[in-house]
Amino acid sequence: MSNIVELECLCGEVKGNLRVVSGSFFHVHCLCCDCQRFASHLENKENILDKHGGTELFQTYPEFMKITEGLGKIGGVQLKEKGIYRWHTTCCNMPLANTMCSAKIPFIGVSVKLMKFNNGQEKVEALGPVIMKAFGKHSIGEMPKDAHSKFPASFMPKIMGFMLKGIFRKKNSPSPFFNGKKTVTKVIVLSKDEVT
Ligand SMILES: [Zn+2]
Ligand SMILES: [Zn+2]
Repeated sequence: MSNIVELECLCGEVKGNLRVVSGSFFHVHCLCCDCQRFASHLENKENILDKHGGTELFQTYPEFMKITEGLGKIGGVQLKEKGIYRWHTTCCNMPLANTMCSAKIPFIGVSVKLMKFNNGQEKVEALGPVIMKAFGKHSIGEMPKDAHSKFPASFMPKIMGFMLKGIFRKKNSPSPFFNGKKTVTKVIVLSKDEVT
């Protein structure tokens, strides 16, 4: 079964859609310091992070995400060399998605903030509940009770299975952020002092 979710940035210049395919995604919540640093870099923490400094991500295969409008408004950064690519809009500084720094890896973490839902119920129906909250030790203030302090080891086999299935079925491509091996825009590596 699959569902289509509409994507739109805060200002409406970047639009697209996401196919939600059952058995091919993880709806997670990340409280890590890197996601928080990315939001700081975009100078848009209030629109990106929740009160604990968390970000909701929908991890799936790149071929399921399409950007249909505002292709010229895509920016990409790495917090460090060889770090993951963090894609964002340049119109309103909203995160789009994270990918690995290689086009070969069938993985994308789409920002749930981009998704258009009329209400909370519609969202839960489309994405299901958050199944894992990671890196709670980086929470701002008290750690949410349902969060894991780090990345839970119990989740690793699920990710590995997902990756193997994706590699086997070549689900890394097409990707909204790569043309072949090349990125759609130049990815900037942030200097250390820029992301404190
Ligand atoms: Zn994170
Ligand atoms: Zn925008």
